[in-house]
Amino acid sequence: MSPIPHKIAYVTATWNPVTGCPGPKISRGCDNCFAERMAKRLRGRCGYRADDPFRATMHEDRLNQPALRRRPTRYLVSDMGDLWHDDVLNPWRNRVFNAALASTRHRFLFLSKRFTNMGKYILDLLFLDTVPPPHIALGLTACTQDELNRALETLSRLSLMGWHTWLSLEPLLEPVDLYHATQETTAPDWVVLGGEKAQAPRDMEPDWARAIRDDCAVLEIPFFMKQMATKVGPGLTPPAIPGDLFIRQIPQTLRLPGEIDHA
Ligand code: SF4
Repeated sequence: MSPIPHKIAYVTATWNPVTGCPGPKISRGCDNCFAERMAKRLRGRCGYRADDPFRATMHEDRLNQPALRRRPTRYLVSDMGDLWHDDVLNPWRNRVFNAALASTRHRFLFLSKRFTNMGKYILDLLFLDTVPPPHIALGLTACTQDELNRALETLSRLSLMGWHTWLSLEPLLEPVDLYHATQETTAPDWVVLGGEKAQAPRDMEPDWARAIRDDCAVLEIPFFMKQMATKVGPGLTPPAIPGDLFIRQIPQTLRLPGEIDHA
């Protein structure tokens, strides 16, 4: 079975065994939620409920998609919702984790905006009695300095437990100081940065991105520039990433066979 088509530069496929993320919104980054727009557009189709398409939903039939895919793939997990929304049940998360644990030929990027829920779930993991698996990375999204500081606290704890961690700064909504934010914490293993992609995207100044690029270089964190702020609509082409920002590094542990950096 083929994975769902995607246009996310840092992964080769998305995998959505759980979708949905009903309110309340928890970040300014949620204001133009792509997942919610897609769920409403697909209302009544593709596994989205007709009456409440963005409700947290487990899709049993998708659990084995990675197991059936032979080609090594780097998956972004449940980007059509938030796996750590309060309405997502722990037994669902356990099943998703177990499916990822079993598919060691792939790489899995988990991602959430709910720092506390993810941290608590991982700390409470009862079924995992081995060291954290190298083919899974746990990520948090931060759009502002305050979110960055809080995300790093959780990622740092996970990192100390031995998990690979990553940070998504998308959509970046203000300049942030990554260097000083990491002085009291363990730095994440990867930083992915992107401007907002929406019909009316909020600005992301190129200099905000340059500052993060430079902090990553000093901290020796692989840096991946995904996109500038991008207005989407029929016939529109995305703005080019300035040459000095077009850096697309991937940590060794998350690379697929034959992958190289673009820097
Ligand atoms: S947490 Fe993610 S999926 Fe949920 S509303 Fe915000 S942007 Fe959308």
